[in-house]
Amino acid sequence: MRDPTSFLGEEYRQLVKDDLDWRLRVLQGPSAPWCEIDGKRVLMFCSNNYLGLSNHPKMKEAAHRAIDTHGVGSGSVRPIAGTMDLHMELERRLARFKHAEASLVYQTGFATNAGLIPQLAGEGDLIISDELNHGSIIDGVRLSRAERAVYRHADADDLERVLANAEEHVPAYRRILVITDGVFSMDGDIAPLDRISAAAAKHGAMVYVDDAHGEGVLGPGGRGIVAHFGLARDRVHVEMGTFSKAWGVVGGHISGSTDLVKFAYNKSRTWLLSGSHPPPVAAACLAAIDVLESEPEHVERLWTHTRRFKKEMRDLGFDIGKSETPITPVIVGESGRAQKLSLRLFELGVFALPIVYPMVAKDKARIRTIMNAALTPEDVTTAIAAFEKAGRELSLI
Ligand SMILES: *Cc1c(COP(=O)(O)O)cnc(C)c1O
Repeated sequence: MRDPTSFLGEEYRQLVKDDLDWRLRVLQGPSAPWCEIDGKRVLMFCSNNYLGLSNHPKMKEAAHRAIDTHGVGSGSVRPIAGTMDLHMELERRLARFKHAEASLVYQTGFATNAGLIPQLAGEGDLIISDELNHGSIIDGVRLSRAERAVYRHADADDLERVLANAEEHVPAYRRILVITDGVFSMDGDIAPLDRISAAAAKHGAMVYVDDAHGEGVLGPGGRGIVAHFGLARDRVHVEMGTFSKAWGVVGGHISGSTDLVKFAYNKSRTWLLSGSHPPPVAAACLAAIDVLESEPEHVERLWTHTRRFKKEMRDLGFDIGKSETPITPVIVGESGRAQKLSLRLFELGVFALPIVYPMVAKDKARIRTIMNAALTPEDVTTAIAAFEKAGRELSLI
């Protein structure tokens, strides 16, 4: 009789054959600038921990303290018995940081997009997405019964065209929701949110921005993309983000009006049906807001390193795309070359993973580097030297 699970091994082996499988690297300690991975001491050059906060003493202390006062688990989902004072305080502090009326914290960014998007638009509505939006947005949109349209990547004129077409639709759409990443994580470019929100306002559409890679990075004090463009709160209706990137912890969140937050927690199935954050997580996120407000040097150092790295890599002749943020792709072509470059860099003491199809186009495989504020200038020098050596060996420069 045929083994009903034979496809598992077959599909996995095909991925290996195509150089498309994930080979997991294991950290044997914290995600620090120099970390121990698979027994080798290497420079961390691809974590989302932009500001180095995941190992920050104030945040670790806050997490320890919360375990002592509140335990290791919340005991329930938020709406039943899993809302603690720590969760409420975190949402108040986050709203204040974002200069928004209110904020709501979900378990993860993925849970936020998957839980909220299908509630904001349903039957008789239209969702308009940037063609390169993050997979969690795509899945959130798939869970909705709304019609879908896409506009060309980061192209506000094309969005305007789609919005104008939508206005002609019969019967008229009940609601229109425009969704974009704030910073696109594969290329590091920034959505033209000023022009996107203006186009949406003209056509009476809602705007939802996923600022996972903009928070802690863009705008005064790392407040994110809405602050970066200085947009009025009523121009961006849902500002979504995650504590899993620059904040160094874990947890999705939204900021906007009080009505948005009340609507969101009553309707989002991921929020209602999945356990809430353990106390140390909520406490570490709270401490992260304190750190961002009281230690501006992290964001400043992140940008100093970023500008220098981009300039020197470009001068060496690498194709680093058109990133405007601390995400710097080093584009090499087909996936095998990206895997080779990554392996060589690892041997030379720099950890930067390849990003290959299906995360990017088949001929746009790359090493995606992410700058980190916790690196020293000497660390950045070391990394650039490793790229130069490996790049010459592989005839990339
Ligand atoms: C990482 C990421 C998410 C998911 O956030 P998690 O909190 O890690 O689940 C969502 N959107 C974008 C754009 C991201 O980069």
